[in-house]
Amino acid sequence: MSAVNLLGLDAAALQQWLADLGQPRFRATQVSRWIHRRGVHRFDEMTDVAREARALLAGCAEVRAPAVLRDLQSADGTRKWLLDVGAGNAIETVFIPDDDRGTLCVSSQAGCAVHCEFCSTGHQGFSRNLQTAEIVGQLWLAEHALRATTPCDESGRVISNVVLMGMGEPLQNYDAVLPALRLMLDDHAYGLSRRRVTVSTSGMVPLMDRLARDCPVALAVSLHAPDDALRDRLVPLNRKYPLDALMDACRRYLPHAPRDFITFEYVMLDGVNDGDAHARALLRLVTDVPCKFNLIPFNPFPGSPLRSSPPQRIRAFASILAAEGIVVTTRRTRGDDIDAACGQLAGAIQDRTGAASRASARLPRIEVAGEQR
Ligand code: SF4
Repeated sequence: MSAVNLLGLDAAALQQWLADLGQPRFRATQVSRWIHRRGVHRFDEMTDVAREARALLAGCAEVRAPAVLRDLQSADGTRKWLLDVGAGNAIETVFIPDDDRGTLCVSSQAGCAVHCEFCSTGHQGFSRNLQTAEIVGQLWLAEHALRATTPCDESGRVISNVVLMGMGEPLQNYDAVLPALRLMLDDHAYGLSRRRVTVSTSGMVPLMDRLARDCPVALAVSLHAPDDALRDRLVPLNRKYPLDALMDACRRYLPHAPRDFITFEYVMLDGVNDGDAHARALLRLVTDVPCKFNLIPFNPFPGSPLRSSPPQRIRAFASILAAEGIVVTTRRTRGDDIDAACGQLAGAIQDRTGAASRASARLPRIEVAGEQR
């Protein structure tokens, strides 16, 4: 029988699993605090756990994060881990420090099946869903590695915000993501507020409704186009869940959201989606959806038909939205020297389709999201 990886069990599951072993209810709290709050992975170091219980756990359980293939530190403080999730698959986790917070960008799948036209991960194809332990393992590994080098905040943590904006579409891996979110929020684990945990989706409408019911964290929607014809091309999932349905889902989510707005992500593609008419169409689209916009300069590459909008075009686009009272931020690039844009490094390691080596569209830079404060 293989050992149970306790990184994959949320509070209820851990309590049930320990109860099945004949352990008292409080054992789950003890063990969770050792693992998630203190970063301990050896049961013999859990000193307030009864000696017999430690021996029992050592015989049937483990605390194991994905193995680190590469650990890269940027001059600007951004840190990126390339992690081995088996069978030749690598995923990426990125920490972005800022003055008042530390944001971890977490992957939810090895590859991605959505195939957004501008995305390196999408171009690499889909391999598999990550397990809860592999999602939580990214946070566990990063938090406890960072504590060795980075000042903690007043709560004793380095990571104050988590965004599921790394590789993969989180809501296409809902059953594994949900317990991971619960652990992020659990006071005996990472204790983050719902405002500081963000799920980014390309528009999995039915699962946005489930998330609203099950665990309503902050929501970001990868929009990228103001009309169905263009979005069908840039975000192919739009053919299944077009903009009308997506906007309705946003409206349904808002009463549950920890903030009173949705964040729309919009990659700025020169001559594709960045005209004044696109901005005005966006205003009509979101007219009754309280929102913020995050404009993302696209990172161009040789041979790609896509180019980033010039800075003055991005400013003009932003000013059209802002003139109607919408808060607009433009994403800063971080970690240039370590390929911190999602999917770049894993794409260099593995290309599941061969497309990356031909064209390698790059996902926009990881956000340092103003709205995550
Ligand atoms: S942008 Fe997100 S949803 Fe689209 S292909 Fe990339 S990882 Fe998948």
